[in-house]
Amino acid sequence: MNPHALSPSSQSKSATESIYDQYIIKNYGRAELTLARGEGTYVWDDRSRRYLDFTSGIAVTALGHGHPHWVEAVRRQAGELVHVSNLFRNPLQAELAKRLTQKAGPGRVLFCNSGAEANETLIKLARLHGLRKTGEEGKCIGVICAADAFHGRTFGGMSATPQEKIQKGFRPLLSGFSFGKLNELESFERLIGSDTAAIFLETIQVESGIIPCSPEFLVGIRQLCDKHDLLLILDEVQCGVGRTGRFFAFEHSPVRPDAIGMAKGLGGGFPIGAVWASEKVADLFTPGSHGTTFGGTPLACAAALAVLDILDKEGVLERVRGNGSHLLAQLNDLCRKYPDQLAGARGLGYMVGLQMRSDPASFITSLRKSGLLVLSAGGNVVRLLPPLVAIRAELDEAVGLIDGVLKGGRTNNAS
Ligand code: PLP
Repeated sequence: MNPHALSPSSQSKSATESIYDQYIIKNYGRAELTLARGEGTYVWDDRSRRYLDFTSGIAVTALGHGHPHWVEAVRRQAGELVHVSNLFRNPLQAELAKRLTQKAGPGRVLFCNSGAEANETLIKLARLHGLRKTGEEGKCIGVICAADAFHGRTFGGMSATPQEKIQKGFRPLLSGFSFGKLNELESFERLIGSDTAAIFLETIQVESGIIPCSPEFLVGIRQLCDKHDLLLILDEVQCGVGRTGRFFAFEHSPVRPDAIGMAKGLGGGFPIGAVWASEKVADLFTPGSHGTTFGGTPLACAAALAVLDILDKEGVLERVRGNGSHLLAQLNDLCRKYPDQLAGARGLGYMVGLQMRSDPASFITSLRKSGLLVLSAGGNVVRLLPPLVAIRAELDEAVGLIDGVLKGGRTNNAS
């Protein structure tokens, strides 16, 4: 018997579920699952059933759950010094800024707490660049983004995210945003004017279905930015920090941006975000021009340094590239085996999308009932985001579970 199938008696509401019903604002569509514990690539629910976690908390738990090095670093720092504010220096923030700059290139880092906050910072950077260009506030505030982008839920993030489901109810948004079509260079070129300050893109559009900027497109965008003195800003909140098998996803191309947004995987589960800005523009922020109470606390930086230690020292990214290709090949085999249900597979490293022929909601539920947690993405895509430390046997286990559900044909809405 499938250990994940709920018996009728176990379907009554748990205490946690009842409290959620009564006290938690209902802004999320949540799975019918209460998670209680995690270890490595696995999580356990409140009934002690085990699941393979291929969500990584939406690309966050880069080292999986309870990685000993991460746990030790966080535990040690919690007893040493947790928070001091940015009115003082702390050595962990210094070390993390140095390590990130070694990866991104000559420049400087500003810390925050989330992806949306990193993007707000980047939008402010774009405006400061426009101000320096024209010498006049409000004259050059244009930011060109991509249709189907996702940059977060704050007002800046929503303004850069031209999706009705995101913006509805919250307009008017920030002015100055316009949208080209991803991988169609001319559609961006047409939008450039004297009031344009920046082009702002996800290197890989993840929420919209794992759609990468092609290397040629990125090269063309870089040339446009150089020609018109625009900042090239890349949102690597979801695709960065090793997810694709390179520390930054743009490293799969020859292009280097002027500024980068990071968050999610950076803290391995502890909230932290960061903006890297190149030397050319890092001085645009001056004392008092931007700030946050929590950004870059010693504790958050200790967590992030632990993530970087593991990614740097243990050849993890090389394995992500090799195992990621293996996973993609296995999923492509499934596409050939189940052409009626699957339309294709794509992705890089441990960020892989399985294109379904119809809405994947019930397929995802069936996978959960078989013991595999995955996410959806736009355009009927099932998103697989194993932790970066997942081993090949765990990837194969996931493929086996997917195969099992497809074999049962449980991908239509009747299940
Ligand atoms: N940018 C991208 C590309 C994202 O995928 C996300 C979240 O999914 C965000 C920004 C927003 O990040 P956060 O949820 O940490 O605010």
